[in-house]
Amino acid sequence: MADRVAVVGAGQMGNGIAHTFALSGFPVTLIDVSTDALAKARSTIAGNLDRQIKKGAIEAGAKEPALARITDATGVSAASDAALVIEAASEDPALKFRLFAALDEVVGPHAILATNTSSISITTIAGRTRRPQRVIGMHFMNPVPMMALVEVIRGLATSDATTATVTAIAKQIGKTPVEVNDYPGFVANRILMPMINEAAYCVMEGVATPEAIDTVMRLGMNHPLGPLALADLIGLDTCVAILDVLQSGLGDPKYRACPLLRKYVAAGWLGRKSRRGFYPYD
Ligand code: NAD
Repeated sequence: MADRVAVVGAGQMGNGIAHTFALSGFPVTLIDVSTDALAKARSTIAGNLDRQIKKGAIEAGAKEPALARITDATGVSAASDAALVIEAASEDPALKFRLFAALDEVVGPHAILATNTSSISITTIAGRTRRPQRVIGMHFMNPVPMMALVEVIRGLATSDATTATVTAIAKQIGKTPVEVNDYPGFVANRILMPMINEAAYCVMEGVATPEAIDTVMRLGMNHPLGPLALADLIGLDTCVAILDVLQSGLGDPKYRACPLLRKYVAAGWLGRKSRRGFYPYD
């Protein structure tokens, strides 16, 4: 049997990561402080497995065994028997630092601690543990079951052995790992977020409507999703958090978050997850 994986955070990324590992035969412990989030994650995973069955991507018989491989828990101590922990809790540096210090205490000496952070320094997170050589970034894309890429981010002290293990596991679950180094935003968000931010400025300045901006980018650049629809999918709060990290980490005001993005977040318009962002989702 495959080694156990623990996923910390059962939000939109955590449920997708748990889904993908369970479908690939890994026993998974899914941990969240919120029992509501755990219940919602289980029903989302069941619904997404149904969708994969309907599309012919997986066999109907794969659903129940995959769901049965996922165990829910509300505290990080449940990660004690995991060989790999993937942290996918909210994008808050203080929270992640606390979680990694706690995980370092509960897991075995050979366990690898990975984070799905979009932008927080892997080196800094690793520094909160006594195993920086076994701390790494595993940056999955949303929606996890559909998207092939995993950015594998090496912190300053991440060992070759840890990188090789995580790369092999990413391939085992059907993903394509790409190794990058630890700089703010890594590669994906360093390039994506300025585009999303510029699209938000276009809305704020009245250059065009969100629909028009997204249509230009879909039809003109062949992007499957326009930048504003993508921002709604990622979460506008997450976009602002990543832009703040880019601006402070790289020290360049060109990364400052568009005031309209901040205003939407202040209003609770977080995108799909709150049913309102650049678009309404009823
Ligand atoms: P989310 O808000 O959907 O989920 C976060 C979950 O973390 C919530 O269920 C919350 O209850 C839980 N949580 C908070 N504190 C916790 C704790 N102490 N222990 C356990 N769980 C805790 O957020 P998300 O979009 O799933 O993002 C999670 C992480 O993945 C972030 O670091 C984000 O930057 C990263 N990420 C997000 C995307 C995206 O498209 N949304 C893509 C790649 C990476």
